[in-house]
Amino acid sequence: MTQTLSRPDGVPGGTDVNPLRAGVASNRITDPCNVVFFGASGDLVKRMLMPAMYNLRLGDIMPNNYGIVGFSRSEWDTDQFRDEMHKSIDEFSRSGPAKDPLWSDFAKRVSYVPGSFDDIAAFKKLKEQIDKNDEELGTQNNRLFYLSTPPSVFSQIIGMLEQAGLGPRNNPKGWTRIIIEKPFGTDLDSARALQLEVGKVFDERQVYRIDHYLGKEPVQDIMALRFANVIFEPIWNRRYIDCVQITAAETVGVEGRGGYYDNAGALRDMIQNHVTNLLALVAMEPPVTSTADAIRDEKYKVLCALRAMDPNKIMQDTARGQYDEGSIGGKPVPGYRDEPSVSPQSNTETYAAVKFYIDNWRWADVPFYLRSGKRLARKNSEIAIRFKSIPHKLFGETGDHIGNNTLVMKIQPEEGVSLRFSAKVPGPKMHIRSVSMDFNYGTGFGVVSAPAYERLIGDAMRGDATLFTRWDAVERAWEQCMPILERWQNSYDDSFPNYSAGSQGPPSSDRLLAAENREWRKI
Ligand code: NDP
Repeated sequence: MTQTLSRPDGVPGGTDVNPLRAGVASNRITDPCNVVFFGASGDLVKRMLMPAMYNLRLGDIMPNNYGIVGFSRSEWDTDQFRDEMHKSIDEFSRSGPAKDPLWSDFAKRVSYVPGSFDDIAAFKKLKEQIDKNDEELGTQNNRLFYLSTPPSVFSQIIGMLEQAGLGPRNNPKGWTRIIIEKPFGTDLDSARALQLEVGKVFDERQVYRIDHYLGKEPVQDIMALRFANVIFEPIWNRRYIDCVQITAAETVGVEGRGGYYDNAGALRDMIQNHVTNLLALVAMEPPVTSTADAIRDEKYKVLCALRAMDPNKIMQDTARGQYDEGSIGGKPVPGYRDEPSVSPQSNTETYAAVKFYIDNWRWADVPFYLRSGKRLARKNSEIAIRFKSIPHKLFGETGDHIGNNTLVMKIQPEEGVSLRFSAKVPGPKMHIRSVSMDFNYGTGFGVVSAPAYERLIGDAMRGDATLFTRWDAVERAWEQCMPILERWQNSYDDSFPNYSAGSQGPPSSDRLLAAENREWRKI
C-alpha cells in the first residue's frame, strides 16, 4: 500500500489530523553517516533496504549529509547501480515510485564498488569511496556497515574491513557500527565461532544483530501495553495466567530458497530467534529504565530462566511437521519434498512447536507454547495470553461454557490488540458468550506502520540498539534450542510429510496441548 509521508518542504506532503497523534513528534533524526551495503545486488537490498533508505530521507528521519555505498560482485558501475536502485524503489517503496526532486538528490549520494569479499584491492577502493564521501557529503567519518550477504561470508567481510583500515580502531574521528543479518550462526558452535571473529574487530556496543521482527510496531507495543498501563501488570503472572501461546504462521512455502531452508528448518529459522525474542518481551520484568541495555538485561534474564529441555522429554514436549501438497487460497501447491533444491527424503521440519517453562517467581509452571510453520491455513503472527478459568461458576442454569479471558497481541498481518471476555446475551435467560474488544493500529492512529527495516536502520544510524539482539541473548537462545535440534536431526521422522498445505499443522502439535487439556488457538 502506498503511504503518504510528511516532509516540511512539501515533497509530497500530508497533514496529521488524527487527534490520537496530535503533538507526537514523528522525526528522530539520525546521525550523518555513510551506509555501506555488502550484498548490494541481492534481494534484500532491492526489496527492503534501499526503499527503506529512500523513505528515511523522504520522512526527514535522515539528514541531508549521508552517503550510501553498494558493494557486491556484480560488475556494475555507479550509474548502473543507481538505475537498479531506482527500479527497486519504484517497485517496492511504500511511498510509491521515486520522484524528483528528491530522487535526483538521493541518487547523487549513492555509489557502487564492485568486488568480491576476498579481494583486498576492492575493499581499499571502498575505503577511498567512503573517504571521498566524508569530504564531499559531510558524512563526518561515521560508518554503518550492513552485512546483507550469505552468512558464510560474514567473518570474511569483517576480517577484510579490518585489513583495509575500515575497522573501528582505524576511525577515531567518527563512529563505526555493523549490522549483521540473520541467521547469526547455524548452531551454538558456529554462532560462537562467528562471535569470536566479530569480537576481534568490533566491541559489542558497535554490533547490531538484526531480527527484523523486533522492528515491527506491534512488537514494540508489547512493552507499551505492559509498562504504560496499570491494569495488566498485576495480573501478568502465574496466579492469573494459564498459558501463553506464541504463533508465527506463514502461508508461503520456501519461495525458491529450498537449498537454504533444507539446511535450516523452522526451529532454526523462526523459533531460535524471532519467536524466542517475543517470549522474552512478554515475560521480562519491568526494566529499570528504557535504555537499550536495561531492556536487553531483562530479556536476557528471561532466557537464563528458561528451563533446559529434559533430554528424555524432548519428543513429548515438542512437535515437528513437514508440509505435504495441499491448497492455499484455493490454489494447489506442491509438498515440501517436491520444492526445488529440497531433498525428496528430507527430514527438515517446516513446522515446529515447543513447550517452554520459565523457572522464576513470576512464571513458575506456566507453559509457554511456541509454534511456527510454513504453508499453514493463514498468515498470522500473534501472542495470546490465556487467563485462568473463573474460580466458581455463578451462571450455571443455561449450561453455557464460560471461556477463558484471552488477550491477543496481533503482530501480522493485522496489527493490534484484542481482549476476549464473557458477556450476557440480551434476553430473559442468563446466556453467556465470549465477545471481543479490538484495537487496530491502522484505524486507531490513522497511520500505516513503517516497515521494520526502516525503523531498524534508522535506529542503528542513531546508535539505539534497543531492538537489536545482544550476543549473550543469541548464545542463550542457541543453548536452549540445541538439544531439540540435535534430537530432531538424529531421528528420522517417518511420519513426514504429516500436514497438508493450508491446514492447521501436524496432529502431533495438537496432541502436545491436548495432553494438558488445552488447545491451540485457530491459526
Ligand atoms: P541474495 O542471495 O539475494 O544476495 C546475496 C548478495 O551477496 C548478492 O549481492 C551477492 O552478490 C553478494 N555476494 C555473495 N557472495 C559474495 C562474494 N563472495 N563476494 C561479493 N559479493 C557476494 O541474498 P538476500 O539479499 O536474500 O539475503 C541477504 C542476507 O539477508 C542473508 O543473510 C539472508 O539470510 C538475510 N535475509 C534475507 C531476507 C530476504 O527477504 N531476502 C529476509 C531476512 C533475512 P552478486 O550477486 O553480485 O554476486
